[in-house]
Amino acid sequence: MKTVILHNKTFEVFIPETEISAIVHSMANQINNIGVKDPLFIAVMNGAFLFAADIMRNIIIPNAEISFIKLSSYSGTETTGKVNQLIGISDDISGRNIIILEDIVDTGITLEKIISLLEKENVADIKIAALLFKPDAYTKDISIDYIGKSIANDFVVGYGLDYDEIGRNLPHIYKLKN
Ligand code: 5GP
Repeated sequence: MKTVILHNKTFEVFIPETEISAIVHSMANQINNIGVKDPLFIAVMNGAFLFAADIMRNIIIPNAEISFIKLSSYSGTETTGKVNQLIGISDDISGRNIIILEDIVDTGITLEKIISLLEKENVADIKIAALLFKPDAYTKDISIDYIGKSIANDFVVGYGLDYDEIGRNLPHIYKLKN
């Protein structure tokens, strides 16, 4: 499908699933090559669920673990600027080598919030892997270790990303059609 309609808005294919797959493989390879000891991947839900699954099945680092954090900062297609932590980390993660898996980094507010939460837990190291990055919207100084693809300030859906909770199941990434 070249276009899809979600809540009366039309979206067109932007990153086909073959390209997503190549990007994810390349990111997993980079992470495999850094030699992190006993990494704890933390996937940011809900948007990163497919990205996290596809990254994890390509990780070959011994003793790799995954956990999940759930935050929300979007209402419709515009950021609210507020981040609410919905589900946190309950296990002891002090001293762990963390790799955050984010679907998309836009303003960076969510990322900053996650990092401040993790730093309170005295983790050993934090690395960040983001499938998509919007450099023109980014307002933070935190450097992102692994970026799948930098994109313009378009609203995208599919491959885990939603438009008011629908569209997460789409295998390609779509952008709002003008
Ligand atoms: P930030 O806090 O960096 O502004 O936004 C991060 C979160 O906003 C992402 O994890 C994602 O849930 C949501 N988000 C940002 N840009 C988009 C977008 O283009 N499409 C969708 N579906 N969600 C987005």
